[in-house]
Amino acid sequence: MDPIEGEFICRKCQKPLSINKIMVSKKGYASFEVTCPHKHSGKRKFNMAQQNEWMPAVIKHLYMCPRCGANLTDLRQKTEGDRTLILLNCPTHSKIKKAVSTSFWYAMDALRKQLSARPAYPPAYPGPYPPQQYPPGYQQQPYGQSQPQPSPYAQPPATNHPPDTVSPPQMEVTPPTPPPAEPSGVGEITLPTGNNIDAGDFCPACGEEITSGAKFCTNCGTELE
Ligand SMILES: [Zn+2]
Ligand SMILES: [Zn+2]
Ligand SMILES: [Zn+2]
Repeated sequence: MDPIEGEFICRKCQKPLSINKIMVSKKGYASFEVTCPHKHSGKRKFNMAQQNEWMPAVIKHLYMCPRCGANLTDLRQKTEGDRTLILLNCPTHSKIKKAVSTSFWYAMDALRKQLSARPAYPPAYPGPYPPQQYPPGYQQQPYGQSQPQPSPYAQPPATNHPPDTVSPPQMEVTPPTPPPAEPSGVGEITLPTGNNIDAGDFCPACGEEITSGAKFCTNCGTELE
């Protein structure tokens, strides 16, 4: 095994060690407080001058849950003088706090960017919801589940496809109708004057566009006046 990786294996139980705290001495040594999932604890000390050799292993064991060994992800960091608190997330144990000397944090961050081992900062999501999740109650568009029931009165829907082409069912998107051009530009709004439905109108029940002259909505079967 890689000798540096071997430094981060518990000498009592052979489990991987999580780094929980990193300090840097004035003499240029980084010291690491480590624990294994069985709570055996210890300290390790490396020369900062050789950080390129050991930093990848240190990053790996810093981003490791002290309780279960799982990979942790960044939540946020807070720098307080020469100490930087990092808040990490374990998929099982949720928030894990670690403390790192601020100078070490910057050295590590620079190397992480170089190695692109992981993004230095999690990508910002504009919304309150993480990716792949949706607000409570949000349902993904059902596909092919709520196909409109063909009404007995339905006329074959107008289609631009050649008749022998079987096209997959598609969620129809009704383009918004442009507002009628205002002849005088005075801003008058023409209100519908009656219940008569002309060609180019929409079904009052379901909003489907109505074929000119149709007696019934091709989508829901509502009788049209
Ligand atoms: Zn142990
Ligand atoms: Zn954990
Ligand atoms: Zn309808």
